[in-house]
Amino acid sequence: MLWITCSPWLKFLKLFCDTPERTQFVCCIFRAPSEKLMNYASLAYAFKICLALLCWQCALCSVVSADVSTLHHTSAPLLHTFVEVKAYGDNQTAAMLDLVFNEMERVNALLNNYDPASDISLINASAGKGPVVIHSETFDALSVAVHYADISKGAFDFTVAPLIELWGFSRDQPGLSGPEPEDLMIAQTRRLVDYRALGLKRDSSGTHAWLDRTGMRIDVGAFAKGFVADAAINFMRVRNVTHALVAAGGTICALGSKPDGQPWQIGIRHPRNDSTFLTVIPLHNQSVSTSGDYEKFYVKGGKRRTHIVDPRTGMPVSTVQSVTVIATNGSASDALSTALFVLGPKSGLDLIEQLSGFEALIVSASGDVLYSSGWPQKIITY
Ligand code: ADP
Ligand code: MG
Repeated sequence: MLWITCSPWLKFLKLFCDTPERTQFVCCIFRAPSEKLMNYASLAYAFKICLALLCWQCALCSVVSADVSTLHHTSAPLLHTFVEVKAYGDNQTAAMLDLVFNEMERVNALLNNYDPASDISLINASAGKGPVVIHSETFDALSVAVHYADISKGAFDFTVAPLIELWGFSRDQPGLSGPEPEDLMIAQTRRLVDYRALGLKRDSSGTHAWLDRTGMRIDVGAFAKGFVADAAINFMRVRNVTHALVAAGGTICALGSKPDGQPWQIGIRHPRNDSTFLTVIPLHNQSVSTSGDYEKFYVKGGKRRTHIVDPRTGMPVSTVQSVTVIATNGSASDALSTALFVLGPKSGLDLIEQLSGFEALIVSASGDVLYSSGWPQKIITY
């Protein structure tokens, strides 16, 4: 009969039902009278069986593809922002998301300069007094930070903490109760800012770090989110997650693509309209970070003061509204978005063009939109 030749399942059924015993077994499962099936007399029963087997086949298929069929999602406050993790997978992947957050909390506990027990606070408290023992991951994070400070010629400088405090940004509500700092005060504070005063040593006794001068302090605000998000991505990668996204404030890291092979689509916030995207970019196994003058700022004496300070002048930066950097990992995109914010449109894009694997979009203070030669999305709303 036609339906038998059309369906491989029914071919199998016909073959399987070649003895009365087997037919009895199949009929018992589907509650069909054996005589009817044996005679192929009832298409209705055969149809029932066909349908049930197809359902079974579908169920088998869904088990096989379960690892990427469902999108799981968790979010929680962390890193002084809101962190969100999305991952495609099965129930094990869903259960793993809590462990991903544990991992991020563990790495954040090493770096958080607001936590007195962190490695960074230990280094800060011992500034000018000699080396302290730090975890190897803190050593790695600081080594990455030194690299980006080097290539940005100190525009990105993680020892900027004394200037951040001077300008009233070391608290949740930024601002100054009194007048703005005077030039002399700014110049004196700048002397405490120089990333080259960080010492790092790895030997058989472990990993150590120190700051040369008393009063110096590390601020991880410009790169910790990227480093912690990278740790989450690596945590998932080694556990065979293949499609995931970690969003930590202005830094978003993608593990692979979406399950259908399409890149993730990431909206880049408009710096002057938080309900509009400037543009939407594709992201695949990459990270993107945005530094904006809208994140933390106050207006004093008619001047807008933002939380990113130029270590070379000691002044809050006022030449750009936002900088977005695409890189191969979150530590790089996070550090470089801050570096380019300080460098400004021209020097910032010059730096990006020298590096491979990086692209940038900069909105200048006057609202001009500039991007690097390989920026993926030229459709910009402004
Ligand atoms: P956000 O944290 O708002 O996403 P960034 O990644 O650009 O933005 O980090 C800004 C933070 O970096 C500031 O709040 C401050 O803690 C720190 N910072 C400010 N200026 C500098 C600088 N020149 N170099 C390194 N870190 C900086
Ligand atoms: Mg940054």
